[in-house]
Amino acid sequence: MNPTLYIIGAGPGDPELISVKGVKALQMADVILYDALVSPQLLGHAKETCKLIYVGKRKGKKEFSQDEINQLLVFYAARVCKVVRLKGGDPFVFGRGHEELEYARRRGVHVEVIPGISSALAAPCAANIPLTKRGVNESFWVITGTLSSGELAHDIELAAQSTATVVILMGISRLKEIVSIFSQQRSPLEPVAIIEHATLPSQRVFSGTAADIVDLAKEGRLRTPAVIVIGKVVNEIGHSIPTDFMRIPQEVFNQTR
Ligand code: SAH
Repeated sequence: MNPTLYIIGAGPGDPELISVKGVKALQMADVILYDALVSPQLLGHAKETCKLIYVGKRKGKKEFSQDEINQLLVFYAARVCKVVRLKGGDPFVFGRGHEELEYARRRGVHVEVIPGISSALAAPCAANIPLTKRGVNESFWVITGTLSSGELAHDIELAAQSTATVVILMGISRLKEIVSIFSQQRSPLEPVAIIEHATLPSQRVFSGTAADIVDLAKEGRLRTPAVIVIGKVVNEIGHSIPTDFMRIPQEVFNQTR
């Protein structure tokens, strides 16, 4: 059989939110290279003989550069039959998955891609925030908070000028700047939610406005990974839940799942 590289989306965190196709690929893999945001439980699907290689960050430091990861993928694809690259969420949403595909294909490796549920969609959904709701919004944008240059993404300013729901990944370190743009372009009362550790038992949801979310997040000692959602749909979380600051109890999630 030809060497094949499978680039797989692991889903947002909950190990049950990977696709059936993704699990099947994990079960037949000879080597799995995986990232930090991937649930360790997913590795339990691997054969006993499968080599598991962690290529995420360690204590904030990058263990492997993107070039090294690309080289490892091709190295193993040439030596064993089935190599899996397991990436958090969807592999092509702010995940550099397509760079890996291009690199491997250029070197003659057959590549298959298995989509995953992106945290951009899963985090609002798991927090009971509809990304679209009839009569409330027409669209949603998914934006990175930080560009590879370290700058704040320019699209945030443009998105704030629209009426769209805005979902921001990798934005927590720029939260203050982001909400101040929305405060100016929309209103200080613009609804904002932050969903931390989405779909995991440790999930928490902070909900407030452009004016108070920074303080609420500070008070709650916000952790990452987290997704920011801005727009009127945030008000749809539900009337039974306090809308200023909250930690949704596990029982509520158990009931709603
Ligand atoms: N490919 C991934 C995104 C990678 S960028 C996907 O499709 O989900 C990493 C960013 O994703 C984090 O900074 C955070 O904003 C978001 N993220 C990933 N997993 C998350 C989770 N479980 N809860 C909240 N945000 C998450």
